[in-house]
Amino acid sequence: MRKIEIIGGGLSGLSLGISLCKRGVPVRILESGNYPRHKVCGEFVCGVSSQVLDDVGIGEIFTDARRHRRLEWWIGDDLVLKDELPEEAIGLSRYCMDADLAELFQSAGGELITGTRAGSEDGDGRVWAAGKRKRGGKWIGLKVHAKNVSIEGLEMHVGRRGYLGLSGIEDGRVNCCGLFRINKNVDKKNILASYLKANGLDQLHEKFCQWDIDESSFSATAGFSLGAQQSSGAFCVGDASLLIPPFTGNGMSMAIESSWLASPWLEKFSREELSWLDACSGYSSSCDEYFGKRMRLAGGLHPLLFNGAGRSLLRWSALSGLLPFGFLFKQLRSR
Ligand SMILES: Cc1cc2nc3c(=O)[nH]c(=O)nc-3n(C[C@H](O)[C@H](O)[C@H](O)COP(=O)(O)OP(=O)(O)OC[C@H]3O[C@@H](n4cnc5c(N)ncnc54)[C@H](O)[C@@H]3O)c2cc1C
Repeated sequence: MRKIEIIGGGLSGLSLGISLCKRGVPVRILESGNYPRHKVCGEFVCGVSSQVLDDVGIGEIFTDARRHRRLEWWIGDDLVLKDELPEEAIGLSRYCMDADLAELFQSAGGELITGTRAGSEDGDGRVWAAGKRKRGGKWIGLKVHAKNVSIEGLEMHVGRRGYLGLSGIEDGRVNCCGLFRINKNVDKKNILASYLKANGLDQLHEKFCQWDIDESSFSATAGFSLGAQQSSGAFCVGDASLLIPPFTGNGMSMAIESSWLASPWLEKFSREELSWLDACSGYSSSCDEYFGKRMRLAGGLHPLLFNGAGRSLLRWSALSGLLPFGFLFKQLRSR
């Protein structure tokens, strides 16, 4: 059988690796970092079905993870929506998740090479799972864990030019993760607190400054663009293919789902039943069909958060009970 080489051992690369091992396909993953390690991520998974998790073969890593049913949505200092989530969300840090997946991949027989950055050349049997590819964008993502905070479920706090999500994860910790428009004037030393202040999230800023922050969990990523990332012809899964805006989307679910969609095509290529070109184009059509609707909807809704009129509309519709929250939530997580 032909070997598959996956560049990037994040959620999509490891999920794909595990799924291929289950199908008897020889796989090698090249990962530039080491495990465990922190990553910028809201650290709640929502939308991927248990059927897909089981098909991919990674359901077991979520067995003991925290589950969330409640959501609070704040715009500025006002609570505009407090509701039950239409589906349970899983709260688990990437620090644990990716390390557990790496172990699972190796125990399934996969070859994992860490501390090795791959070059950018494409080739038959080479899959890109290396995260965001489109650079030069205006976004910065920041995340850190807090230790003495108690929240009920998930919280989203929307400011003028960005937002922060809070999600309970393992060991009673709360993950604080934000996406903001890059602002060159913020204080780089207390960067997350400064972004909260600069975005008019005053109450949250005050609370955040009281929290016991685990500085070693801090991570940041800047200068990326949202939306389609893929260069034509390459076989890409997860963020390397499509980066859905985090507030309106569920990038981790899409990372797992894209690996689930990719596996049968790669298996056929590995068994020499399909050419590389046919595997690439077959997979690309299944992605368009599976993710097209949610990418278009997320791309349409996300800009509303970043202008005054859009936020006023969302605030008014949420407070008056007219925001079809459950409907939008489901549409953003289905094909
Ligand atoms: C601010 C923010 C908040 C988010 N919050 C959430 C959330 O709450 N819920 C959710 O579902 N999604 C969220 N997401 C999206 C989610 O984090 C991503 O969709 C998910 O991490 C995608 O996984 P991936 O494996 O494709 O990429 P990544 O997790 O980025 O993994 C890519 C891997 O490739 C490695 N790599 C890169 N280049 C190379 C190379 N050349 N050679 C070898 N290795 C390489 C990297 O080290 C990394 O380990 C958020 C994203 C952002 C920016």
